[in-house]
Amino acid sequence: MLTWNAEVVQYHRLRNDLAVIRLVGDGIPFAAGQSLEVTVPQNARLTRRYSPALPPSLDGKLEFHVRAVPAGWVSGSIVNETRPGDVWKLTDPKGSLAIDDSGREVVMIAGGTGLAPMRALILDLAHRATTPPPVTLYVGGRSPRDLYAADLLWILASELPWLTVIPVVDQLKDPWAPDRWNDTIRAETAEAPIFGPEHCWEGSLADVMSVQEPFGDHQVLVCGSPGMEAATVSALIGNGTPAAAIRR
Ligand SMILES: Cc1cc2nc3c(=O)[nH]c(=O)nc-3n(C[C@H](O)[C@H](O)[C@H](O)COP(=O)(O)OP(=O)(O)OC[C@H]3O[C@@H](n4cnc5c(N)ncnc54)[C@H](O)[C@@H]3O)c2cc1C
Repeated sequence: MLTWNAEVVQYHRLRNDLAVIRLVGDGIPFAAGQSLEVTVPQNARLTRRYSPALPPSLDGKLEFHVRAVPAGWVSGSIVNETRPGDVWKLTDPKGSLAIDDSGREVVMIAGGTGLAPMRALILDLAHRATTPPPVTLYVGGRSPRDLYAADLLWILASELPWLTVIPVVDQLKDPWAPDRWNDTIRAETAEAPIFGPEHCWEGSLADVMSVQEPFGDHQVLVCGSPGMEAATVSALIGNGTPAAAIRR
């Protein structure tokens, strides 16, 4: 199988458990919405799949959003130990998360770093020659602090008239325990959070989907942890959305 290399050029620690990693390297023939199998130097014998948050670029730019899962072998080392200059190996682009050309309205439902492939798809749509269909992105987290890409989503939603962003959180109140990385970013920008509790819908993404009208004539894209995807798809089908309209 073909393997490509890319070098880490930027590492941004946004939360205790989350980092954004930017790389530059070989041009990789993947499609927006797909994932790649990744090997990092900290764990050269283990591979994991991660979804680029940018569509493919001619100059080989890549961006990944990685959340450290508790007791995870690879994700913890990526979030804690990645440094500029690291070389990642990438292979096996695959996945069917995509927007077709039917012009049907798009509903995206992203839990946590499930936002990454959705962002790649939104940026890809923005570059198409034709006007994109309306897109509604429901982006979920545990609390407002979890919505790590709020600034970027705000900019996208204000610049792209066809995009609506709805933040959804399990609880409106952030945990009491501090998050050093988030607190530093907040102190540097000295701004109120872009998605404060007053902007968010409360509940799980599955809760929110279970009370929507059925998405009968839409393209519905779901991405997140296995549990989030299963609960959300089940809620969508329960509310009358046809299974054939859902991609994950
Ligand atoms: C198609 C695809 C795309 C993906 N894209 C991304 C991405 O863009 N960003 C990202 O951060 N992750 C993504 N993942 C998840 C990623 O591949 C790893 O599974 C994750 O980083 C955990 O790896 P690990 O080695 O740290 O944990 P492991 O050592 O494999 O697992 C440790 C423990 O954590 C549990 N666990 C594993 N994953 C999760 C999870 N998501 N939530 C809760 N518990 C979990 C395991 O069951 C196990 O008990 C994607 C997965 C797939 C299949």
